[in-house]
Amino acid sequence: MSVVELVKKVLFMEVLQGLALTFRHMVSPSVTRQYPLEKREPFPGSRGLHALVRDAETGKERCVGCGLCAAMCPSQCIHIYTSEGDDHKKIVDRYEIEVLRCVYCALCVEACPYAALTLTDHFEYCGYTRDEFYYTKERLLENWDKYMAGEKGMNYIKNFWRPRSSDFAAPSPERKGP
Ligand code: SF4
Ligand code: SF4
Repeated sequence: MSVVELVKKVLFMEVLQGLALTFRHMVSPSVTRQYPLEKREPFPGSRGLHALVRDAETGKERCVGCGLCAAMCPSQCIHIYTSEGDDHKKIVDRYEIEVLRCVYCALCVEACPYAALTLTDHFEYCGYTRDEFYYTKERLLENWDKYMAGEKGMNYIKNFWRPRSSDFAAPSPERKGP
């Protein structure tokens, strides 16, 4: 044992250093938030409760029932039931998500070619029964009205819905390398 180590041992230096650290933390400001009294604004693009986009012009869902979102969903928690309309167009009779099985990966949002589905930034939801977490088409459209209507929803789609057609544009001639 060196002399320095011996002096440190005799003077209990490590214990004193530990106490100094504890004391520093006791007087420094707390970083803990008193949730739910204190809340932080959710970050844009947060992956919370699902919503079906309501088309501003028609007032109906944008969804055309193509089923891509359900095919991509790793949890297999999206269920879509369609029928054929008079003009041979698909009608989305039922669009349902079992939210309790969702892992919030947002693959459904990315798979949708019509920007018809979003994840809102609403994450504080709870319930006593499983049924409360079974979201029907009507409830998903209500979520859009409640949490994403107007500019907010459009900004979400603009910034977080990928890929867009511009992502497939040919690279400019000036661009070099991979
Ligand atoms: S976020 Fe992921 S797990 Fe949840 S419904 Fe969409 S694809 Fe399925
Ligand atoms: S991918 Fe989009 S348009 Fe197709 S069924 Fe899903 S939400 Fe509807």
